[in-house]
Parts: sequence; C-alpha cells; structure tokens
Amino acid sequence: MWRLVTSLTALVSTSKSSTLNQPASTSKIWKSFTTEMARHGISSHDCTPFITFVLGGPGSGKGTQCAKIVDTFGFKHLSAGDLLRREIASNSEYGSTILNTIKEGRIVPSAVTVKLIQREMESSDNHKFLIDGFPRSEENRIAFERIMGAEPNIVLFFDCPEEEMVKRVLSRNQGRVDDNLDTIKKRLKVFEALNLPVINYYAEKGKLYKKPICADQCIRNRR
Ligand code: UDP
Ligand code: MG
Repeated sequence: MWRLVTSLTALVSTSKSSTLNQPASTSKIWKSFTTEMARHGISSHDCTPFITFVLGGPGSGKGTQCAKIVDTFGFKHLSAGDLLRREIASNSEYGSTILNTIKEGRIVPSAVTVKLIQREMESSDNHKFLIDGFPRSEENRIAFERIMGAEPNIVLFFDCPEEEMVKRVLSRNQGRVDDNLDTIKKRLKVFEALNLPVINYYAEKGKLYKKPICADQCIRNRR
C-alpha cells in the first residue's frame, strides 16, 4: 500500500534481514494511485502535464512497477537510465562521458539528463509522465525545476532493503556495465548520499508516497 510520508523519520528501511515478505497486492497499489490522481484532479481529458517521479535504489523495482502503471493508467514512461544508455548506443558526443559515469555509479551532469528528458516530454502527445530514476540528486532536482519550469505532482518511492536490491541487480542479467558487485556498492552509496535528500525534500513537501517492498518485517524493524 502506498503511504504518504512527510518526514525522513522512518522513511528508509534499515533492515538487513534476508527474510522478505511479499509486496502488497498490486490491486492495492493501483487503488491508491487512482485515488491520488483523483485527489490531484487528473482526468483523461486534462492536458496539463501530470508529472510523477519514481525513485528508489538500484534494483528496487522502479522499471517493473512503471510498466504496470503504464499498462493501467496510460502514462508515458521515461526511464532516465534508459535515455542515457540510448545516448551511449547512439554514439552521441556525450556517449563516452555517460558510459564512464555509469560504470563508476556516479551521476551524469544534470544538463545532459534534463535535456534528454525535456526532448522526450516535448515530443510526446501524452501529458501524463512517469519519470523513472530521476532526479538522483538535489542538483538534478533543481536543474529540472529550473529548465522545465515544473515540479512533480507526485513522487513514488520504493523502499527496499539493500540486501534485496543487491540480490536483484546481480541476478537480473541484462548485460549492463554497472550490474556488478563493485559498481552496485558505489551506486548504493550514491543513492544514500545524494538521492535520499531529494526523497526527504519531497516528503517534507507532502508529495512523497512510499511503498515498502518487504512489508511487515521491515516496518516492525523501523519502529
Ligand atoms: N543515471 C544518472 N542520472 C539519472 C539516471 C541514471 O546519472 O537521472 C546513471 C547513474 O550512473 C545510474 C545509472 O545511470 O547509476 C543507471 O540508472 P538506472 O536508473 O537505469 O538504474 P537503477 O538504479 O534503476 O538500477
Ligand atoms: Mg531502471
């Protein structure tokens, strides 16, 4: 179940437990999401952009859940990581810089990422956007707001224990240059240092909806 979170207290799972419970049923997720969209006054006839940021550590399930949201609600899914990988594959002028940054688990300069997202948003007929894996830092967030002149309506956060994220990334086998133990460790550090402040910022603004990935046990450990 999505839960509105308004402060960093108990925001992030600290459990290292390997006991993983099943996520809440998907129907519950969609019910909450529909309710939230209705609360924000979105309808299929509305052309005002409706922006949802989807955040969470590496392997927390952002892409998988976005695909479901797209199927159910017809959002346009923009994965920042996929846009960057597409840029590498297209041999663009930024390709090698992006590749090296991703290999190191660091964050690509905001100007590059925001430009890629902007291009996709401006060329889309859809007005409901799911921006997956962005913003990853306060600098990313501020650049997006400045360049796009917009803020997200809702921010979703998949709160997954580190141990589970590592397990998932190592077993997903997508041939990614950054899905190895060494880079994952760096990505987790970057997530904690740079992405959590963004998550906290949106929590304090009352825009953050958190979904614990390992339900009961993690919640108990947090109390
Ligand atoms: N990345 C970035 N800025 C973004 C999104 C991704 O710099 O806005 C880079 C960063 O190096 C990250 C990598 O792309 O570690 C992979 O991101 P993605 O979201 O695809 O991976 P995930 O964290 O979901 O496994
Ligand atoms: Mg992803």
